[in-house]
Amino acid sequence: MSISFKISENTKTKMIEYFQDKKRIKTPPYAVFQADEEDTVVTLYESGKVLFQGASADVDAAMWREMEKHLNPGKTVEVKDSKEKKTTDNVNNNYYNTSSIGSDEVGTGDYFGPIIVTAAYVDKSDIKFLESIGVDDSKKLNDNKILEIVPKFINKIKHTTIVLNNTDYNKYHNDEFNLNKIKAVLHNRALYNLKKQIPKYEYIIVDQFTTPKSYFKYLSNAPFVVRNITFLTKAESVHLSVACASLISRYHFINRMDEISTKLGIVIPYGAGKQITDAGQEIVKKFGEEKLIEVAKLNFKNTNDIKNTN
Ligand code: MN
Repeated sequence: MSISFKISENTKTKMIEYFQDKKRIKTPPYAVFQADEEDTVVTLYESGKVLFQGASADVDAAMWREMEKHLNPGKTVEVKDSKEKKTTDNVNNNYYNTSSIGSDEVGTGDYFGPIIVTAAYVDKSDIKFLESIGVDDSKKLNDNKILEIVPKFINKIKHTTIVLNNTDYNKYHNDEFNLNKIKAVLHNRALYNLKKQIPKYEYIIVDQFTTPKSYFKYLSNAPFVVRNITFLTKAESVHLSVACASLISRYHFINRMDEISTKLGIVIPYGAGKQITDAGQEIVKKFGEEKLIEVAKLNFKNTNDIKNTN
């Protein structure tokens, strides 16, 4: 399978940073780099075209497409897929009408704010109600809609939410403890806490962010590991538990971002693009550089942009 699309400068920068240590020695013509991500070969071209090849190319492509969309809100990403488009509906139907657990995270592409992971359980008998309030359209909901819908179901759906604040993120994050490992640890913890409260369920579905092999490798030192997970991309449309998990995570994230803005007296932007620099510099000016430890993800390139002025 091979998938390609064009990315913007900001995503390009992120990719170069991310694949720093995974690069192959040889670079094909017109390429910035070629790298291995598990069994996927990733090639980034000078033109901004990025090519994913291999059996799980779709997973890695989906992750970076998310990043591109996240860093460049409103931009449409045209994806070229060499394989026949698999009918997602067929895949989805197996799971949709089940009583299952799902998890999803937010904040991993945002310079400011925490990382939040939620695991939620949706019983078959909840599906009609959730559809009636619009949860099935979770991907299309904007922040205002999320603030309106989530209170309608948050107390009816069993869930656990884990918040990794920025101080802890900055403490844990390093070369071995990368973003995917952090996600794996948080998903595992949220799922474990929820599973204890749900005696019977059919599936555990995780919105896929890495290969199953890597996911469990990241958890090799965890004291407890939830297994029998079904990893799926675009899982929020596969089962409403993932949609609920995604919405609840976003709901808390929006509120946290508002809290931080209010506390600092500075409106802090989402994402990790150019809009970050001004807000970051304002924070440094008002509270000093140390303040960033509490409100930002310091390993992002934005930290340099904030510090390197003129
Ligand atoms: Mn996700």
